[in-house]
Amino acid sequence: MAETLGMNQPGAIAIPEDLLPSDGRFGSGPAKILPAAVADLASQAGGYLGTSHRRPTVKDVVHRVRRGLEEMYALPAGYEVVLGLGGATAFWDVATACLIEHRSGHFTCGEFSGKFADAVRAAPHLDEPTVVTAKPGSAPEPRPVPDVDTIAFIHNETSTGVQAPFDRLGDELVLVDATSAAGVIPIDVAATDAYYFSPQKALGSEGGLWVSLVSPKAVERAAEIDTRDRWIPPFLSLSIALDNSRKDQTYNTPALATLWFLAWQIEHVLENGGLPWAHRRSTASSDVLYRWAEQSAYANPFVAASRLRSATVVTIDLDDAVSADGVSHHLRANGIVDTESYRKLGRNQLRIATFPNIDTEDVESLTGCIDFIVQAM
Ligand SMILES: *Cc1c(COP(=O)(O)O)cnc(C)c1O
Repeated sequence: MAETLGMNQPGAIAIPEDLLPSDGRFGSGPAKILPAAVADLASQAGGYLGTSHRRPTVKDVVHRVRRGLEEMYALPAGYEVVLGLGGATAFWDVATACLIEHRSGHFTCGEFSGKFADAVRAAPHLDEPTVVTAKPGSAPEPRPVPDVDTIAFIHNETSTGVQAPFDRLGDELVLVDATSAAGVIPIDVAATDAYYFSPQKALGSEGGLWVSLVSPKAVERAAEIDTRDRWIPPFLSLSIALDNSRKDQTYNTPALATLWFLAWQIEHVLENGGLPWAHRRSTASSDVLYRWAEQSAYANPFVAASRLRSATVVTIDLDDAVSADGVSHHLRANGIVDTESYRKLGRNQLRIATFPNIDTEDVESLTGCIDFIVQAM
């Protein structure tokens, strides 16, 4: 048990040692990084951390990230892996600056998909976006949106645990936020023009970076918008990011550990069988939780439609009589962390990540720990 994470708080329910998971990290991001990855970085740190990002030692790592993602996603001809700084949140601004011509359509179902629409709404150079929304715990069905040049979907709404459908419906650019899906859920990249993500969730790395798999059409759109009379801050320029990515570097200084963990994780997934392997692991773990909740006297899956239930972020509602915050508090006191629901959702809920780095046996142990705490409460 990772004792460093636990806090021996007075009044906390002590879970018997034999019920505890081997690793107590169940957060949806930053998420569990494999101890083997940390040990590998530690053993190589002297020749890597604190060295120039314009030299081969670091550029080789960026190269491995780009080649690895090409293989993982079997990128169609002409698609490229682009990297920049600032996470998926920054990519919303990149898209607002460089990809949307006049008006975008957004399929939203929670905090993250909604935030992209908000970023666009605030942009003075764009028309009011069209937003198709579904209530939290559900997802809107893809359908044509009139008078838009770009459509934004989310693959996995991390705030609610919904795995949402997306589709290419016309000739609009299709942007898909894949932050808690990338590295796990197999997709046909040809159905998207920018499949983008931050690496600190399903991809077991650190934050601060955005990665986007971009189509030739997206690259052309950005180049065309560059010729217009639109101010594009260089930090948000997709074309500048692309120029740098092609040279295996980023426009400005990246966090070297983030790149290193990302390359490590991509290769770890590929060595074990790629996305189908990762997806099987996450599905096995999430199934444990959904089945446990369905059979529990006090818990229920929040997402009613089973086809929308996420394989990577599981949300479980508890009966009013059982305080989810209380459960999470006692879990935390035993070193089992970050099971709290997404704060703005405001439900009596647990949210548990089932990324491939999290062992299914640990998820099984977690259900035992929750049952133990609820009994003791
Ligand atoms: C976490 C998350 C984001 C924001 O990522 P940052 O790295 O904090 O910018 C965006 N979209 C989804 C789906 C997320 O889960």
